[in-house]
Amino acid sequence: MNPTFSVVIPAYNEQEVIAESYKRLTKVMAGLGEPYELIFIDDGSRDATATILADIAETDKNVILIRFSRNFGHMPAITAGMDFARGQAIMVIDADLQDPPEVFVEMVQKWREGYDVVYGVRAERQGETAFKKLTAGLFYRFLRGITDVDIPNDTGEFRLMDRKVCDAMKKIQERNRYIRGLVSWVGFKQTAVRYARERRFAGVTKYPLHKMIKFAMDGITSFSYKPLRIATHMGWAISLLSFVYLIVVLFQKLFTDTTITGWASMVAIITFSQGIVLLVLGLMGEYIGRTFDEVKGRPIYLVKEVINEPNNDPV
Ligand code: UDP
Ligand code: MG
Repeated sequence: MNPTFSVVIPAYNEQEVIAESYKRLTKVMAGLGEPYELIFIDDGSRDATATILADIAETDKNVILIRFSRNFGHMPAITAGMDFARGQAIMVIDADLQDPPEVFVEMVQKWREGYDVVYGVRAERQGETAFKKLTAGLFYRFLRGITDVDIPNDTGEFRLMDRKVCDAMKKIQERNRYIRGLVSWVGFKQTAVRYARERRFAGVTKYPLHKMIKFAMDGITSFSYKPLRIATHMGWAISLLSFVYLIVVLFQKLFTDTTITGWASMVAIITFSQGIVLLVLGLMGEYIGRTFDEVKGRPIYLVKEVINEPNNDPV
């Protein structure tokens, strides 16, 4: 029989926390008093994460372990979990216990009231650098500003989805997935619960700056063309300014005795405009590269092994 709840937990090199996450999740899920499954995705970990989880899966048949052939990333891991999930409600949570599993109780309550998506809003964030909090805060607001999709601020992947939302999400085959945005995009009846994001239970972040930048660019490019239009706007502005300047220069030449000096200003103008041209080219490259990824149509993830693979009752 299919469980009522499926919890999706992506894990990459989380050996310090994974056993504790399992314990806390089990406590919360068992407390809900209905059948559940914990779907752990080992995203190509190089530490003991997979061994620890395999041991757990041997004694607890509620645990499913999906092992990737290599590290594919946080979003592909969640995607795999959603593909395997059989529950009526699907929950997503990080492995590092920054999002307290106990919040699921409230999420389930809202789901029972008839909401299809219940997402967690980070009312505060502990144990994260001021830099991360500031850049994340600015980014969420910037993204909202440039897109027409109503993506909530300060929201990560911590959420509950109804089966029908999960099925809708499975129809989206995008490669560079920005899941928190896609969930808004699919619609349905959504609500928020506010919670305090805790510090990592143990271990270090698996999102170094370059991954954060890539992720931010995925968010922007998947949900807006506006950055491409910047080129047009800047083009107009610069042409207009140079036209005005041309008239000034002509006027000086024809009607005054002032000699026009200044190769320094020429160099400044040329390098400035060259900088803008390169910037816009790079920006276009971001879109073209992602289009290329879509055209290649490679699978989003590859599975090496599934432990406690569910027998496929129709969901
Ligand atoms: N993660 C993953 N694959 C990756 C990077 C991260 O599955 O390539 C998982 C990680 O194990 C954790 C979640 O994604 O469960 C969020 O990562 P992390 O806590 O390091 O990010 P942060 O909270 O610092 O933004
Ligand atoms: Mg974390």
